[in-house]
Amino acid sequence: MTMPWTSDQPIVQCTDIQKSYGTFDVLKGVSLSVKKGEVVCIIGPSGSGKSTLIRCINALVPITSGSILVEGIEVANPKLDKLALRRKVGMVFQQYNLFPHKTALQNVMMAPIHVLGQDKHEVEGRARALLAKVRLAGKENAYPGELSGGQQQRVAIARSLAMRPDIMLFDEVTAALDPETVKEVLVTIRELSEEGMTCMLVTHEMNFARDVADHIYFTDRGVIVEHGPPATFFTSARDERTRRFLSQVL
Ligand code: ADP
Ligand code: MG
Repeated sequence: MTMPWTSDQPIVQCTDIQKSYGTFDVLKGVSLSVKKGEVVCIIGPSGSGKSTLIRCINALVPITSGSILVEGIEVANPKLDKLALRRKVGMVFQQYNLFPHKTALQNVMMAPIHVLGQDKHEVEGRARALLAKVRLAGKENAYPGELSGGQQQRVAIARSLAMRPDIMLFDEVTAALDPETVKEVLVTIRELSEEGMTCMLVTHEMNFARDVADHIYFTDRGVIVEHGPPATFFTSARDERTRRFLSQVL
């Protein structure tokens, strides 16, 4: 029996999650929790399981054991309603994967119309407002190929927001961008967080993590080796691997 979820409980609660591919253990018992409205950053070396962790949370990857509760709903339940989960959990990837033959506006409108069957007029109004919110007013009719990487990534964020998620997952969304467009995407994410959106980000942007995160988790080889609020995480990491990593990136 799952108890009804209330917003004072963690919105995401991972308990001892393990994920293996054959004999390879990618996640070896990861526990973390995120409160409503929090911004959580996950950092760590390449291959440490960050993407796997974030994909497990919206059931793109099934876990081997453990528990993931999203608003009290067990993601590992084989009878999980994946559409219901994905309405709650938006996700943006490094590769924005916009439809190249659709305009920015059409890209944002697509899922609410075709997946949720919502009214086209109502969706259009919302999509225009979302494009304005990610500072792309005037680009409604542009095709992805006519936009910079940072602009395309902001269309991808607007597209995800069009499903009205309660939580946004970002997996290295600025990693493929030119340095000058990284900032505009980070500004968008910061503004979202200031409006109270719960955000989980895998990122290498340490300044962003320091300024915006409520809590930082450092993963290495499938485990969380260190975590804490930025104030303590960056100044007094106890774990040797974390310290080495920070000394390379800061
Ligand atoms: P990160 O995002 O931290 O770079 P990933 O979660 O992508 O790490 O990957 C962690 C480890 O799991 C890597 O060694 C990767 O090769 C492995 N891995 C990821 N996905 C698969 C898969 N579908 N099959 C086999 N191994 C995988
Ligand atoms: Mg990754």
